[in-house]
Amino acid sequence: MNANMERTLVLIKPDGVQRALVGEIVGRFERPGFKIIGLKLVHPSQEIAGCHYADDEAWLRSVGEKTKASYEKKGVKVKDDAMTIGKRVRQQLMDFISMSPVVAMVLEGHGVIDKVRTIVGATAPSAAAPGTIRGDLSLDSYGLADEGGRPIQNLIHASDSVENAKKEISIWFKDGELHPYQRVDEQLIYRKAKK
Ligand code: ADP
Repeated sequence: MNANMERTLVLIKPDGVQRALVGEIVGRFERPGFKIIGLKLVHPSQEIAGCHYADDEAWLRSVGEKTKASYEKKGVKVKDDAMTIGKRVRQQLMDFISMSPVVAMVLEGHGVIDKVRTIVGATAPSAAAPGTIRGDLSLDSYGLADEGGRPIQNLIHASDSVENAKKEISIWFKDGELHPYQRVDEQLIYRKAKK
């Protein structure tokens, strides 16, 4: 793999599969030029869900802080601290993604981690820009999720760093389930100038 190449893990969460949006979503990643090198339908166990949404203090706090910031932007004071919110959301996510099948995929390409996050859009679909998957295909919000005692249904999980992508790919895929190959358009986009 070329030095500029990255891999990322994408999950189409149960809301995406149940709403029959798999084809629509996969196309949005393929069209910019990212290569699917792993793809499968999985009904995750609570154990896999717990590894994926790890009991990691920094992540729990960041989920809680993002939630508080979103409410405070609307002038709503939140009394729970960030860790309490993070722990509650983690349990909701584990229950949600083990509820019914998800599509797990590994995408490869130049700058794929950040670009996929841009294509996916902001965490709350209510605030996600039009043109993004979450902005176009959902209207869910922190408020609706809270009222329902459930996670925000935002269709996608996508890795947010090289380190997390490595960890997450190893949770969902065995080595033999990843299949490197050449796409025809790679000769155009990845060719090297003659020196
Ligand atoms: P992202 O998926 O955009 O990277 P986070 O890592 O902050 O977002 O959160 C992980 C997932 O947790 C989100 O995709 C969303 O489904 C859910 N989530 C985050 N905050 C909340 C919340 N306050 N209430 C319900 N669900 C939440």
